[in-house]
Parts: sequence; C-alpha cells; structure tokens
Amino acid sequence: MPFALPAHPEDVPALSLDSQLRELTLYEATFDLEAEGKWVLRLLNDDPHIPGVILVKGRRLAGMISRRRIYEKMSLPYGPDLFLTRPLSQLYKYTQTPHLVLPQKMRITEGAQRALQRPTELLADPIIVALDKNHYQILDIHQLLVAHARIFELTSALLEETNQQLKRLAVIDPLTKIGNRRFFEQYFARDWQYAVREEKWISLAICDVDFFKQYNDFYGHPQGDQCLCQIAQCLRSGCRRSTDIVARYGGEEFVLVLLGAKPEAAVKIVKKVQAELAERNLPHQASPLNQTVTLSFGVASLKPSPGQDQQTLIDMADQALYQAKREGRNRYCQKTDIR
Ligand code: GH3
Ligand code: MG
Ligand code: MG
Repeated sequence: MPFALPAHPEDVPALSLDSQLRELTLYEATFDLEAEGKWVLRLLNDDPHIPGVILVKGRRLAGMISRRRIYEKMSLPYGPDLFLTRPLSQLYKYTQTPHLVLPQKMRITEGAQRALQRPTELLADPIIVALDKNHYQILDIHQLLVAHARIFELTSALLEETNQQLKRLAVIDPLTKIGNRRFFEQYFARDWQYAVREEKWISLAICDVDFFKQYNDFYGHPQGDQCLCQIAQCLRSGCRRSTDIVARYGGEEFVLVLLGAKPEAAVKIVKKVQAELAERNLPHQASPLNQTVTLSFGVASLKPSPGQDQQTLIDMADQALYQAKREGRNRYCQKTDIR
C-alpha cells in the first residue's frame, strides 16, 4: 500500500487566525475497498497517530473508517478471521458512518466548527481533508480541536492587547503625546477622592500660552503645533513626582494636578516649568512681551472636605489664571483655600 510516514502531531505549526487545515498534520492513509483488512491493521499498528483510513473505489472516494471502529470490529470473536483476509468492503459494510470532507484551504476555525456540528456519535471521528482532485488525507479531530483552542487563546491575547492599546490611545493627546482632557478628568477625580479620604492637599495649575493667536498668525499653524509640543515637554520636566499629572486641557491650555502639593510646593513646580521654558528661549516675534513664548498660570490649592465639589478647585485656578492674564501675562497668580 502506498503511504508516506506522517509527521508527528507534537510538531504543531505556528498558528494564526488564518491558518488552514492543510497546515495541520495530515495522514496519507488511503486504501482501495478491494484491499485486504490486514494492510489497514498493519498501518494502524505501525503508527499510533493515524486516526483512521480513507477508502476509495478505483479513484473515487468511498468512505472512511475510524481507528476506534476498526479495532472494535477486529476485537470481536472471529473479527480477525472475518476481516483480515477479506476485502475492506466487508469491514466497511459493518462500520459505515457518514464522513465529513473538508477542503484543505478551509480555515482551522471554520473546520473545527464544522466538525463540532456533527451528531454526537460522530464527534470523535477523524475528518477527510481534500487536497487535489482524488487526493485525500485524514486528520485527527483532537489535533484539530487543540489547534482551534490555541488559535482562540492567541486571538484572545491579541484582542486584550489591542484593547489595552485603544484604552491608552483614548487618553493621549495625539499632538503633544501627553494626557488629554479625558485623562485629566479621570485622574483628577481619582486624586480628589484620595485627597478627601487622606485629608491631603491638592493643587491644580492651569496654564495658557500668551498671545498664541499672534504666534499662529506670525509663524503659521504647523509651527504653532511644534511650539505646543515644546511646552508640553517643559511641563513634563517640571513635574517629576510619580503622582504629578500633566494634561492638555484643550487648545493652548494645559493643566497640572499635584496631589499632596501644598501651595508653596505647587508654586515651586510652576516656577520650574517657567524656568525650563525660559531656558528654551522659543522666539515669539509677534509677542508684545519680551519676544519669547511665555505662559500664564493660575494656581489653586486646598484640602478638600467630604462632599465638596471638585469643580471648586478648577474654578479657583481659572480665576487665578484670568488674574495672571489681566496683570500682564508671563506670571502666575495663586488662590488658596485655607480652612
Ligand atoms: P492670551 O494671551 O489672552 O491667551 O491670547 P491668545 O492669543 O493666546 O488667546 P486666544 O484664545 O485668542 O487664542 C488662542 C489660539 O490658540 C487660537 C487658536 O488658533 C490657537 N490654538 C488652539 N489650539 C491649537 C492647536 O492645536 N494648534 C495650534 N497651532 N494653535 C492652536
Ligand atoms: Mg486660551
Ligand atoms: Mg492664550
């Protein structure tokens, strides 16, 4: 009987969602219905991985007998006498069940579904995979299901990773790569609660670029974007503590949430940011101030009490910012609520 010794099922190939049935270990185990049963038994004994045999009549597919059914029949009293030296058609007469033929290019995921849709008594049966015309190989259902489970595992992990990435992206400002408004809202609410619970100070600094409209008008919008990125970097290097939060509040406004920072500490950070920005000396020829890019800050600090609205702190910082603008820009103003 012509057959090639198969690869072992432990050699599971690298699988992906698109992997096809032909990537699995398929066994060449085809016999003519006229062949004697002993040849089948010899093959099955030689390789314990082969899940059954494919039967052909001439070149046409006639059926399939699973290893389990062959051994069942052979182990009956007179089984060997009845089947070993008689044509396989004899054995097939007593073991005939519907067989499932799937194309080799079918995806493993779809193949597994098709296999599982079979009636319960056929669920463990091997599957015939059609290669070319009149060329079939046999596939062990367990191997198919293991591969299917691995693909499921793989896609679940992939999905989880994509979800995490989406979550991260949803709170990052694409231009400056710092947190966006949503990021600020999430963390500010969390920090506010923490400050209430632990009776800690919390400070908020809102800053706004001075004369930024003129900057855009003079240098163009793309250059304006670059300027915002530089400012974001200054803010970031000013806030070194792991609990400090920097975010783009919107447009040319940024916000710092400084959990545990008393008014003096908040001012220290603001001064650090201003110093960093001054050091970069970004030109702003259209600014009536000393022709460099500057920021105005509103800094607010309080020790929140239970039930207090977190908007209070935002309003205080807003008012302070407004005051800083009014008083000439390129400065900070401060509001502190001491109870
Ligand atoms: P002030 O000193 O009072 O803050 O004056 P200003 O010109 O900075 O304030 P105004 O609110 O009049 O203008 C803000 C400008 O910021 C207008 C807007 O086009 C610009 N802006 C907002 N978001 C972006 C952005 O993402 N990129 C760029 N290039 N410009 C932006
Ligand atoms: Mg503004
Ligand atoms: Mg501005």
